[in-house]
Amino acid sequence: MKDLLSNGNTNAKTKKNVRPTKILYLHPSKIEGKEMCPFASIGCRMSCLNTAGLGVMQSVQNARIERTKHYVLDKGKFMDKIHKEITSFAKYYERKGMDVAIRLNGTSDQPLVESLVKSYEIPKNVLFYDYTKNPKKAGRRVFDDGTTYTVTFSRSEKDGSDDQSLRVLDKGGMVAIVFDKLPRTWHGYFVVDGDKRDDLMLDIDEPCVIGLLAKGKAKKDTSGFVVKYTGEHMHPKMPTAPQGCRPHGFYSKQTNLLEQYATRNIKESTTMV
Ligand code: SF4
Repeated sequence: MKDLLSNGNTNAKTKKNVRPTKILYLHPSKIEGKEMCPFASIGCRMSCLNTAGLGVMQSVQNARIERTKHYVLDKGKFMDKIHKEITSFAKYYERKGMDVAIRLNGTSDQPLVESLVKSYEIPKNVLFYDYTKNPKKAGRRVFDDGTTYTVTFSRSEKDGSDDQSLRVLDKGGMVAIVFDKLPRTWHGYFVVDGDKRDDLMLDIDEPCVIGLLAKGKAKKDTSGFVVKYTGEHMHPKMPTAPQGCRPHGFYSKQTNLLEQYATRNIKESTTMV
């Protein structure tokens, strides 16, 4: 049987990750009566990763539908296989002293990590991360076995989504927002360039906005999913961030810090091989 997980180099963002990465692509629709993205909006469906890159091919879509049917109809065997694939991938890099990044909701919004952690032993060098449209799931969670799961809330055009985003940020979480041009801050929270790499959220320890530039069909978005740039500091009059709007220099310092994180990880990976 074919692997369920795909290599990180199968999409433009995960292939820039500083850690070896595996990603799971399910089909973001209702399959066999189960909705894979219960919180999806019209705007996010239009600009979903599902139709990016190889996703334009019907054969790829068919494979995702088959994989999703496997998940819905035989979850036990599906999770067994995912666990085996993650374990063998993680063990290989453990011998080289490296962490691995695993994103199970590449094109879905399901409690996959929660199910895995509940029933299986997870190698210590696995770092799970995801995006979600469910604000209650956002944040960094450490399970009883020490496994960490970093989840970024993904803002949409739905009513209340901006308020939900601010609540996630106020609690110390991260929010992904698609812009037509990246501002420096949004409601006082600094915006980092989320297109640099997909596993950036694993290296950030304070609330911030993961800014993404509109691509493909999203460039023509009229739903409000893509936030229109109005200035370097968007909504500065309503800062809810504890730190408020910070001066420009601060942000370049932060950007350097994030670059250092990336460089440090690359260096560690290289020296430990
Ligand atoms: S919730 Fe995520 S995976 Fe699902 S349709 Fe929206 S963007 Fe795609």
